[in-house]
Amino acid sequence: MRIFIDAGHGGGDPGAVSNLVKEKDLTLAISNRIISMCMGNPNLIVSRSRGVDQSVSLSERVQKAERFKAELLLSIHINAGGGSGFESYILNKMFKNKQHTEAMQTRLHRTIIDNIDFKDRGQKQANFYMLRQSSMPAILTETGFIDHEQDRKKLMQDHNLTIIARAHVKAIEALVREQEDTREKEQLISGSFRLKHHAVNRQVYLSSVGINSEIRHQFIDQDSYYRVVIDQTLDKTWVIRKLKALNQPYFII
Ligand SMILES: [Zn+2]
Repeated sequence: MRIFIDAGHGGGDPGAVSNLVKEKDLTLAISNRIISMCMGNPNLIVSRSRGVDQSVSLSERVQKAERFKAELLLSIHINAGGGSGFESYILNKMFKNKQHTEAMQTRLHRTIIDNIDFKDRGQKQANFYMLRQSSMPAILTETGFIDHEQDRKKLMQDHNLTIIARAHVKAIEALVREQEDTREKEQLISGSFRLKHHAVNRQVYLSSVGINSEIRHQFIDQDSYYRVVIDQTLDKTWVIRKLKALNQPYFII
């Protein structure tokens, strides 16, 4: 899974500030920890909006995530304005695949809250730029309030930043496992035919390019079809790339 980590604020934009503690430093410390923890997991490919204290505009951040072809954009922030605890956000408007993003938020939110020592303020929705302008699922987390004395004390301790980062990584790993589970259940089909010999022809062709398949006889609204189902043990991403390159049809059910 391709993950884009956005450390909120930076450079000339300190974010929220309280008692000389700046949000931009905390988000950077947490994000850099997340990045190095993800590096050890071969299932994760990570990129980030910034790795140092620098100004990066919101549009640049989104562009970086788009260029990276992220499958999840995770924006890291610290809260302020009276309150205490952890909350997560997705976009508050209708958008493509919102249900999927909501499910990801639920998994991410629960995993993080189970692994940090902050009060649960719940899953929320808002019209934030990073959530609105990005085309991939995007979630923003706010861990603790910088202007809440106890939250700030926690955030000022390095080992707590490591715990917060690890909770985010555990959440990302839970999402990857979920994605793999649904992929395993999905069937990749390359053609559905009325006549069996057409299905056999397709199967022979696919086998000549290294893709094994089986033919399944199925009824759809009382019509009989022969479906060419790709071998479940093959790497679906590889098969799809190959079928696209060969201009062959496929669909997933
Ligand atoms: Zn912020």
